[in-house]
Amino acid sequence: MALLSVVLPAYNEQQNIAYTTEVLSGLFEQNGIDYELIFVSDGSSDATYEEIEKAAAANHRVKGAQFSRNFGKEAGIFAGLELSSGDAVVVMDCDLQHPPETILTMWQKWQEGVEIVEGVKSDRGKESIFYRMSAGLFYKIMSRLIKMDMNASSDFKLLDRKVVNVLLSLPERNTFFRALTFWAGFRSETVEYEVQERRYGSSKWSLWSLMRYAISNATSFSTLPLQIVTFAGIASIFFSIALAVQTLVRFLMGASVEGFTTVILLILIIGGMIMLSLGIIGHYIARIYEEVKGRPRYIISKVTDNLQGNIVGEWKKRV
Ligand code: UDP
Ligand code: MG
Repeated sequence: MALLSVVLPAYNEQQNIAYTTEVLSGLFEQNGIDYELIFVSDGSSDATYEEIEKAAAANHRVKGAQFSRNFGKEAGIFAGLELSSGDAVVVMDCDLQHPPETILTMWQKWQEGVEIVEGVKSDRGKESIFYRMSAGLFYKIMSRLIKMDMNASSDFKLLDRKVVNVLLSLPERNTFFRALTFWAGFRSETVEYEVQERRYGSSKWSLWSLMRYAISNATSFSTLPLQIVTFAGIASIFFSIALAVQTLVRFLMGASVEGFTTVILLILIIGGMIMLSLGIIGHYIARIYEEVKGRPRYIISKVTDNLQGNIVGEWKKRV
C-alpha cells in the first residue's frame, strides 16, 4: 500500500501538535490511507518538541525532529522532506490553516498519476487588512520577478517521491520551496482551498520578516535586480550626454549653467544611484558567500525514537 507522508513545520506551536495529530490521523484512518506525520520543530522555545514526543509515543506513525535553533520554515520543510519515506509527501502548516480534507483531493489526484498537486488559496481567510496588503504587495513583486502567479500559491502541496528526490538533490542552500516546484516541472495540477483560521497561537510573520523573505526569495530566484542596475546605468549615460551637450553649448555661448545647484544635484542623484546599485550587487555577493560556505541548511538536535533509523542526508554528513 502506498504511504503518504505529511510534513508539518512547527515553530512554537505547542498547543497545535496534539490537535493536529488527532485531526489528521482520524482523517487518514477513516479513509484507509497509510500515513506518517512528520513534525519538524524549528528550534521552538516552548514545549512543541515535548508535545511531538508525546504524540509519537502514543502513535508510532507520528514522528518528529527538533532543530538546534530556529532555521526558518523553508529549512523545516526540507528537513521534513528528507526525513519522510512516503511515496507521496504533503507539506502543510501545522496550525491547520490548510484544510486537512484538501489532502484527500490531492491524494486522489496523485493516484491518478499527477506528480505535483499545488494548493491554491481561494482567498486568504480572515487575516487583517494590513497583513493582506503586505502579503499582496509581497506576492506581486515576487510574481513579477519569478514570472509566475504567486498571489494564490502556497506551501501547501503534494509531491510525488520523484519530485521530492529532485528537490533534495538541489545543491543550493537558499531555497524557495513555493517556486521550486514550478521550476521542477513534472505533471502538475492545482487544488483550490480556503485558508482556515488558526485555532491556537498566532502568525509567526511580521511585516519585517515578510519583507526580508521577499528580498531573499527574489534574489535567490531572479537576477532581474542586477539587470535593473545595468538599465539605470544606461539611462544615466543618455542623461549625462544630453546634459553635457547642453552645458557645453551654453558655455560656448558665454552663458554657463549656474554652479553649485547643478553640481550638488548631480552628486546627490548619482551618489544615490551608485549606492543603491552597490547594495544590490552586495546582496548577491552575500548570497554567493553564504552558498560557498556550504553550511547545512539546518541542524537537527533531537529526533523521536521511531525516526532514529531514518537519519539521512544533511544531518548524517555532519555527525
Ligand atoms: N514556521 C516555522 N518556522 C518559522 C516560522 C513559522 O516552522 O520560523 C511554521 C509555523 O509553525 C506554521 C507555518 O510555518 O506551521 C506557517 O506559519 P504561520 O502560521 O506563522 O504563518 P501564516 O499562516 O500566518 O502565513
Ligand atoms: Mg498559519
